[in-house]
Amino acid sequence: MSGIYPVSRRRFFGGVATAVGALSLKPELRLWSQGAPAQQRPRRTVDEYDLMAKLGNNENPYGPPESVLKAMTDAFKYANRYGYPDGGITEAIAKHHGVKTENVMLGAGSGEILDIACIALLQDGRKVVGVEPSYNILYQHAASLKADQIKLPLLKDYSQDIPAMIRAVKQNHRDVGFVYLCNPNNPTGRIVSAKEVAQLLDGIPEDVPVLIDEAYHHFVEDPAYATSVPYVLEGRQVIVARTFSKISGLAGMRLGYALAPRELLNRMRPFSTGSINAVVKWGGVAALNDTASQAWVKKVNNELRARTTVQLNAMGYETIPSEGNFFMVHLRKPVQPVIEEFRKKGVLVGRPFPPMLEHLRVSIGTPDEMGRFMVAFKEILPNGKAAGG
Ligand code: PLP
Repeated sequence: MSGIYPVSRRRFFGGVATAVGALSLKPELRLWSQGAPAQQRPRRTVDEYDLMAKLGNNENPYGPPESVLKAMTDAFKYANRYGYPDGGITEAIAKHHGVKTENVMLGAGSGEILDIACIALLQDGRKVVGVEPSYNILYQHAASLKADQIKLPLLKDYSQDIPAMIRAVKQNHRDVGFVYLCNPNNPTGRIVSAKEVAQLLDGIPEDVPVLIDEAYHHFVEDPAYATSVPYVLEGRQVIVARTFSKISGLAGMRLGYALAPRELLNRMRPFSTGSINAVVKWGGVAALNDTASQAWVKKVNNELRARTTVQLNAMGYETIPSEGNFFMVHLRKPVQPVIEEFRKKGVLVGRPFPPMLEHLRVSIGTPDEMGRFMVAFKEILPNGKAAGG
């Protein structure tokens, strides 16, 4: 797919350099894995970081495609404006999904959408219902608001227990602020099928909102999966969260959005900070249109994921079938010291995801990064089959 990648970034970064020149970037930055307490955050220089294989945060290793870089570069002339011109991003998202603009709310990443849902829907002592492990930043935010969380265990095959979720919602009906359904789930990569989503929505009282986090939607191949956007069109109490961080490689630029019925979004809008940067809105419009680059990222990602997991399986390590840009491998020993071993070998891997403390989450990087991961894996865990299990 030449013409999309590799990308000439000179024009875009030329623009960025001009804009941030006065900031005098220091050679050393504090970089840390999500969720680590401040005093434990490792310090490393940017040069050290650049040399590492970055398989810890489910990022897109290729960055935004050329079409997106061009749109953002051209939009740099609006860097001094707060909110407008915005490239028509809200209209573009609405058109893309066949909804009205009143059904769209932008966020500085879908993380902001999740935060806003917590603030808006977990008031008056309301609880969130979901599974564990899932995207734990959501639960952390709920905890920071002193909201209770009903976290249900995954089933033996690491899928989400929909009947248990339905029971939990019914038992706590008046106290439930919303249900969180991460689909595909992070960190397992397992999907909730379209049938199960329907089962959940039909099984709970219809006034209970369900936040369906589709951050990894674009990587899914399983035909049993479907987006939940049609429920928004039906007016069901569903919020779909999407992001440009993954398939479009814009994690550092911060853009995501929610799709939901108007009344539900109107409960959330007062808590939106409006802190999205002016340039990424133009990049988002270009990203929606660049389906060729999305297809390329999906193809390369899914092939590398398959290749890597086959190698690990051949060594005697079980992997969880994933539909995302990451997967989990069962190490059969505590994961925390192994994460540290990888770091020493220049490979950043995912954080621990309690209670799955023997599973390592590995993001799919470039072919080179995955090669370095496999070399390190064989050095750190050489006795896959001998270790039994
Ligand atoms: N939801 C899930 C499931 C994620 O894994 C992430 C990031 O890794 C996010 C939301 C937040 O992504 P962003 O704020 O970059 O859109």
